[in-house]
Amino acid sequence: MLLEDKDRIFRNLYGVHDSGLDGARKRGAWDGTKFFIDKGHDWIISEVKTSGLRGRGGAGFPTGLKWSFMPKADPRPSYLVINADESEPGSCKDREIMRHDPHLLIEGALLAGFAMRAHTSYIYIRGEFIRERERLQRAIDEAYAAKLIGKNNVHGWDFDLYIAHGAGAYICGEETALLESLEGRKGQPRLKPPFPANVGLYGAPTTVNNVESIAVVGDILRRGGHWFASLGLPNNTGTKLFQISGHVNRPCVVEEEMGIPLRQLIDEHCGGVRGGWNNLLAVIPGGSSMPLIPAEECETLSMDFDSLTKLKSGLGTAAIIVLDKSADVVKAIARIAYFYKHESCGQCTPCREGTGWMWRVLERMARGEAQKSEIDKLFDVSKQIEGHTICALGDAAAWPVQGLIRHFRPEIERRIDAYQAAHREAAE
Ligand code: SF4
Repeated sequence: MLLEDKDRIFRNLYGVHDSGLDGARKRGAWDGTKFFIDKGHDWIISEVKTSGLRGRGGAGFPTGLKWSFMPKADPRPSYLVINADESEPGSCKDREIMRHDPHLLIEGALLAGFAMRAHTSYIYIRGEFIRERERLQRAIDEAYAAKLIGKNNVHGWDFDLYIAHGAGAYICGEETALLESLEGRKGQPRLKPPFPANVGLYGAPTTVNNVESIAVVGDILRRGGHWFASLGLPNNTGTKLFQISGHVNRPCVVEEEMGIPLRQLIDEHCGGVRGGWNNLLAVIPGGSSMPLIPAEECETLSMDFDSLTKLKSGLGTAAIIVLDKSADVVKAIARIAYFYKHESCGQCTPCREGTGWMWRVLERMARGEAQKSEIDKLFDVSKQIEGHTICALGDAAAWPVQGLIRHFRPEIERRIDAYQAAHREAAE
C-alpha cells in the first residue's frame, strides 16, 4: 500500500505551494514548537528514540541515541551541525527539502538544538547548491524576523542558525572533514575517536545530522514518536525520501514508507523501468557507494536498511540508480570508481593509491583488456581498502567493485574472452 497523504511529512516536495513562512505554517510547521520545548530536553530525545528514526544521511544510526551522547553539563558550548553537503551520486532529496520546505529544517534545527543544549547551529551546504542556499537564507531571515529563532525568541531558547557554503569537495560530506572545513581548514577527515559528541566543532561537543533527519523532527513531535514508529517496518520505521534516477520512465523524488517494495516504488512513481520490468539489469539501491543488486533479486526487494544489508548492499541515502539492459555495467562501475579516486583526500595510502588502481583496472576490464586472474586480484585489493582507512570513503570506493564482481563476473570474463579471441584472430 502506498503512503497516505495524511502520513506525509513533506507536503511541498515539488514546490507547488508557498515555501515561505506563511505557506509552511499552513502545512503545520512551527505548530506546537514552544509546547515541545517546554517539555524539556530529555522529553524530545525520548520521543525521537520512540520514533525509531535512523539517520537519513546513509549510515542509519539511531538519531535519538546519537543525541543522547551529547553531554548534559559541560562548560563548553554545544553545537548542532546539519550536513547539507549532498554530493553522493544519485542523491538529491535534501536539495528538495531546502528548496521547497526549508521551514521544516529550521524548526527541526531549533528542536534538535534545544534537545542537545546547543544555542548555535550551522548548516553546511554543498558548494553547487547556490539557489538552495538563497532559498534557505530567505527562510532563515523570515524565522529571525518572526522571532522564531535568534536571541529572546518566542520559544524561550536562544538559537542562532548560520549557513556555511562548501566549495565542491565530496569528502566534506564526511562529518569530521565537514567540521575541519567549517573551522576554515582543508576538508580532511579526522581520526575517531574522539567522536564529535566529545570533541567536535572548535573542540566542543557536536552532533552532525543529515538534513532529512532534522527536517522530520517537528512532525515526529507533533504526531508522536509512536505514530512515526507505526510506519514502515520494525527497526526500519517511518517515511523516507526515495530518489529514483537512471533508466526509468519518470525519475523522481518521493516520500514513501520504509520497506516499500522496489518494484512498487518504480512502477507506481516512475512509470516503470524503461522498456519494461524484464528490461531491468540491476539497481544501485542507495547512492553510488552501495553494491548493485542484480535484476533477479529486485522483484521482491524491500527498501529498508536491514533487508539491503542482508543482501550485502545498503539503503544508504535511498538514492536508487536503475540500470536497464542497455547499460554497460562494467563501464558504469569504472566511472563510479573514477569518482571516488577523484574525491579521495589522499590522507591514507589504501584509499589514495587503491582507488586509482581499481579505476585503472576496471577501465581495462570494461574493454576486455585484462587477465581473468585480475578479477580475484581486484576483489582482494577492494578488501584491503575496505575497513583500512581513516574514513568511509575507502569503503564507499570498495563496495561497488565488490558488487560488480559478485554479480557480474561472467560478464567481465566474457569481455576478456572476446578481446583475446579478437586478438588471436588478428594475429593469425
Ligand atoms: Fe581521505 Fe580516503 Fe583516507 Fe578518507 S579514506 S581520509 S578520503 S584518503
